[in-house]
Amino acid sequence: MTKVLIVGGGVAGLSAGAHLQMNGYETEIYEMHKIPGGLCTAWKRGEYTIDGCVHWWVNTNPQDPCYPIVNGLVDMDHFPRVTYEEFCTIEDKGTVLHFYSNLERFEEELKRVCPQDGPIIEELIKGAKKIASIKIPADKAPEVMNLWDRIRMIKSMATMGAMAKKWSQPIGEYVKKIKSPVLRKLLSCFPFYPQFPIFAFLMHASLFHNKNASYPIGGAQELINRLVHRYTSLGGKLFCNSKVEKVLVENGTAKGLRLGNGISCAGDYVISAADGHHTMSQLLDRQYVDKESQELYFTEKHVPKMSQLYISLGVARTFNDSFKPVVYIPLQRPIKIGTIETTHVLVTVRNFDPTLAPKGKTVLSMFIVADNADYWVRLRNEKREAYEQEKMQIAKQMIEEVDAYFGNIKENVEMIDVATPASYIRYTNNWNGAPSGWQDFQLFVNPPKKQIKNLKNFFLCGQWLGDGGLTGSMKSGRDIAQIVCKKEGKKFKLASSS
Ligand SMILES: Cc1cc2nc3c(=O)[nH]c(=O)nc-3n(C[C@H](O)[C@H](O)[C@H](O)COP(=O)(O)OP(=O)(O)OC[C@H]3O[C@@H](n4cnc5c(N)ncnc54)[C@H](O)[C@@H]3O)c2cc1C
Repeated sequence: MTKVLIVGGGVAGLSAGAHLQMNGYETEIYEMHKIPGGLCTAWKRGEYTIDGCVHWWVNTNPQDPCYPIVNGLVDMDHFPRVTYEEFCTIEDKGTVLHFYSNLERFEEELKRVCPQDGPIIEELIKGAKKIASIKIPADKAPEVMNLWDRIRMIKSMATMGAMAKKWSQPIGEYVKKIKSPVLRKLLSCFPFYPQFPIFAFLMHASLFHNKNASYPIGGAQELINRLVHRYTSLGGKLFCNSKVEKVLVENGTAKGLRLGNGISCAGDYVISAADGHHTMSQLLDRQYVDKESQELYFTEKHVPKMSQLYISLGVARTFNDSFKPVVYIPLQRPIKIGTIETTHVLVTVRNFDPTLAPKGKTVLSMFIVADNADYWVRLRNEKREAYEQEKMQIAKQMIEEVDAYFGNIKENVEMIDVATPASYIRYTNNWNGAPSGWQDFQLFVNPPKKQIKNLKNFFLCGQWLGDGGLTGSMKSGRDIAQIVCKKEGKKFKLASSS
């Protein structure tokens, strides 16, 4: 049986493994951490569970072209999920704006709160509705498409491409014409980096409108448990605590892996579902760098700068009003991490998932953008005490801030946890602790190639191939399985998970 070795047991590695097992391949996944999941992870602190990942899981509506991929991995009919009625709430000097999922309701809200921006609101809503009506086929990886598939793809991409072009202005520029401060703030807040085109905002609005973004009850941990179960029940072998040191290559063909403990294993194909930069520079020793990967990984052009501080609080109280992934709270004292000054913090009140805290208690998680991963790594390595103190200082400030916003927090805090860019690097190897791969929108539109020109039987998959996020990484794993099947002259099949 043809054997495929996979580096990394994150969502992409598990997806690649499961899809290859469905198609009669023998696979082994090597994961460096003691548990699988990569960025899709959760951790326990006393009686609280911190979900370190899932805010919204997109492409999870049965009508979405990616749904069969997701459903082939986890039985979606029997996976309880929450579909949000609101994306977020944001406030400016007492003015509160709700970003409702339903676009008609959102338009009404926008016109009520920001009447001075009527024409802009109409153009934004019209754009989001148009994007919501477009479906891009996802049944085949671009690399395995025939001429007919390509024509089909080009046709649907033409409309999406036209929208992307029309809405290509960077958010930071677009907001200058908006009069209402609260609407300007909404567009400027994460996850829409100012250099991203306004298209990114509209895309999110369209996904929420289509009820195509949900939250799985049990969060990241439950999702990973189900993925691991699927992979192993198909016969896949998952080895944790197994850091890969090198990809073994003979005569320009990948032949196996050497692990950190010195043991080598042989395979017919090698897939790296680990961080792209780590793969090119460490696992392949910079030996197989083609023109594209040189530019991507070894020039300053695309280096991801943004990571995050992820602060979680366990509070002994409930919150009635929240059924949304995000509340942006204005900070009384803006906080500067690296060169980025944050004036609003993204808070998720995780009261929609009863598995994360005991009855009557709630986990709050906060996401603060940081562009100084090196600083956090150095501080942790060289001055551990100062590192812990700085984390606690930031947590204390955030407690003051959420207390000022929601009230009744300070006296009820039972658990504090702070993950820094250093934590993300340590546990997942991701370049500069980046949360979702490239931060260059163009690389989502024109993703990097999954193969390196001068290295045979080796593939890359996961978020660094332009397929960011949970479903993107699942699709990326499926794509690689299709590519391997095509190379071997096999017809690819998707097995049902139910
Ligand atoms: C705070 C946060 C919030 C997020 N929120 C969302 C969200 O709401 N919705 C969404 O869709 N996405 C979200 N994401 C993004 C999403 O989690 C990722 O895009 C996705 O999980 C990436 O999966 P992956 O398998 O491609 O990569 P990774 O998760 O990075 O997996 C790579 C795996 O490879 C392993 N590895 C690395 N090097 C080696 C080695 N040498 N040997 C062995 N193993 C190795 C790592 O340990 C890791 O397990 C979020 C991410 C973060 C950090």
